[in-house]
Parts: sequence; structure tokens; C-alpha cells
Amino acid sequence: MNTRRDFLQKVAASALILPLPSWALSAPKYDGPVLRVALMGLGGYATRVADAMRDCKKAKLVGAISGTPDKLTNWQSKYGIPEKNCYNYQTFSNIRNNPDIDAVYITTPNSLHHSQVLQAAAAGKHVLCEKPMALNAKEGAEMVAACKKAGVKLLVGYRMHFEPKTLEVIRMRNSGEFGKILFFQGLCGFRIGDPTQWRLNRELAGGGSLMDIGIYAINGTRYMVGEEPVWVTAQETKTDKVKFKEGVDETIQFQFGFPSGAVASCLSTYSMNNLDRFFLNGEKGFAEMQPSTGYGPIKGRTNKGELTQPHATHQMVQMEEMADIILNGKQPIVPVDGEEGLKDLKIIDAIYLAVKTGKKVPLNL
Ligand code: NAD
Repeated sequence: MNTRRDFLQKVAASALILPLPSWALSAPKYDGPVLRVALMGLGGYATRVADAMRDCKKAKLVGAISGTPDKLTNWQSKYGIPEKNCYNYQTFSNIRNNPDIDAVYITTPNSLHHSQVLQAAAAGKHVLCEKPMALNAKEGAEMVAACKKAGVKLLVGYRMHFEPKTLEVIRMRNSGEFGKILFFQGLCGFRIGDPTQWRLNRELAGGGSLMDIGIYAINGTRYMVGEEPVWVTAQETKTDKVKFKEGVDETIQFQFGFPSGAVASCLSTYSMNNLDRFFLNGEKGFAEMQPSTGYGPIKGRTNKGELTQPHATHQMVQMEEMADIILNGKQPIVPVDGEEGLKDLKIIDAIYLAVKTGKKVPLNL
């Protein structure tokens, strides 16, 4: 006679012979510290981060901050977030009394980052903030200072700084495999849709394509060339003045010069699709990546052949690495701290100034 015990024994036996996924076989068991994170602004990117964090060992989504009560309810059931770790923007400051949350990850529209980072720091929480870190260098400097004063870490969501093919190109450059670096080209853009979205609202976005997608070319120039630029020139073009209102840039081309004599040429746009390409040229070799900053898989080759490093979800890797930085003081190969975000903001200020004046603007990073 088949008993319930027989049935359970059969289930248990069949479970034993099921093949385990390769990651389960290779990944060592982790029983170290875990960074407990609350996400603020439960939109498109927050959802991507939350989904990616399901596979993290060192970082765990434990809290949420939203102005929409329904979203908080949904996130509680979708991600197993306890109600006591949920806040709206009015109750957020109470997070200071919550010992179960270590860090707040800010994924709201750009213009909100500054005040929200200051609030999170004042509440004694580490802060992860999406790019662009703020609207300008003045705000950025205030955020860096506030986090320093509060004794919390400030990290910016530069997920490409942990991407394996990107890191391989950086390794090759550092080891001299491309020779002296002479030129970089960074092309970043997409055709933006809905004209009513916050990305096309100057008050919320702080600008246009440069703040949103051009920042990948700015930041990428710096980590691909491996030097800080000392001047920038820039030109803006606008084909649609209705969609791209005053202060919302559609397309900007910008050029950098470096102390070594290397130069860079970049394009940021909201009007062209399939524009996601990096090209680095040195005296002895080159690297080209396309796509270069999208969610991947990143593809690329160098003068030595294809880049074959495996793809992993960027946001998962980023959260694992950021947990290590905050909890264990790990030093990333390319920095992701507030100072790094501030350098990009100084460049953004300089690009907008160069567009306005038509002049070459010196940079002192
Ligand atoms: P989104 O519009 O999908 O989400 C923004 C969220 O903020 C929404 O849930 C919205 O309700 C909330 N919000 C709170 N206060 C708001 C206000 N006053 N006005 C409007 N919305 C408000 O946008 P997103 O694509 O998730 O972008 C959010 C941030 O993440 C931006 O800074 C963006 O640059 C950044 N981002 C980064 C990446 C990356 O790859 N690192 C990708 C996408 C977006």
C-alpha cells in the first residue's frame, strides 16, 4: 500500500538525483555579512535592481520607500519586504530608528537625488545613488560632504565598473597591451519616446540626453583612457524644439583632451537608436565594444581577438561588489564613490558651459 511516507521518500529520492545547476555546484556557501538595502523610488530601474538582487548573496532587498501606497503593498508581496521596513516620503526620516536597514538605494528622477541623499545620510544610512549623482557639481560636492560628515558611504550606480569585458579592456590597457593611448570615441544614445516623461522635463531631469545617456560616454572616456581630461569642447544640435524644450538637450557632441596628448570624441543623443559604441585606440592596439554600456551582454574585440568574458546580470554583480565595498572596505578597480560621481558632474557642468560659450573649457578634476 502506498503511504504518505512512501510518497515523501520517493520525492526526496528523486530530488537527490536531480542535476544541480552549475552555479550551485561551484558557488561556495556564503555565511558572511549581508548589506540590507531599501530601494527608494519604485520605478523601472528599481524593479530591475530588485529582480537582480534575488540572486545576490552579499546584498539583500529588505525595504522600500515610495509615494504610492499600492506599490509598497505590491513590493511587500513580490519581494517579501516586511511592512515595518516600508516608508513614504513623509515618514522616510523614521528610517533612522530602523536597525534592520543598512543602506538606501536612490532610484528616483535626477533632480531628487541631492535632497534624498542628504536625508538618507542624516538618517545614518549608507547611500547608493543612481547616475547622474546630482544635477551639477555644487550639489554633488554637498552630497559628498554630507555623507562624509555623517560617516556613511556614498556610492553611485556605475554598473559598468564591474562588467567583466570592460574590466578586461582596462586590464589590457594598464598592462600596456595597447601601447600609448591616443584616441577614444564614445557614442551613446537612443530614440526617446513619450514626450511627457520626466526625462524630458528640465526640472526633474536637469537637462536632456547628456544627463541620462551621455554620462556613459563621459564616464566611459575616463575609465577607458585611464586619465582625467584637462579640457572639453562641445556643440549642441536640436532638430525638434517641441519635444526638446529649452534646457533639454537632444544631441551634444563633445571632445576631450588629456595630459598625455590623447584626445576623445563623444556623442550623446535622444534621437538615434543602436548607438552604444566605445572605441579605444593605442599605438600598439585597439578595443572596440558594441554594445558597450547597455544591459548586455556586452560585445567586443581587441586587436588580439574577441572578448570572451562571461555575462552576468550587471545589477546583481554591482550589488554584490557594492556590498563588499561597504561591508568589507573592498577597493574596486574603477572607483564608484561620490568623488567619482562628482568628477562626472564637473564635466557635465563644463560641457553645458562649452555649449553656451562656444569656447574650450578647462577641467581640473
Ligand atoms: P522611472 O520613471 O521608471 O522611475 C522613477 C520612480 O521615481 C517612479 O517610481 C516614480 O514614481 C518615482 N518618483 C518619486 N518621486 C517622483 C517625482 N517627484 N516625480 C516623478 N517620479 C517620482 O525612472 P527610472 O528609469 O527608473 O530612472 C530612475 C533613476 O535611475 C534615474 O536617475 C536614472 O538616470 C537612473 N537609471 C539608471 C540606469 C542604469 O543603468 N544605471 C538605468 C535606468 C535609470
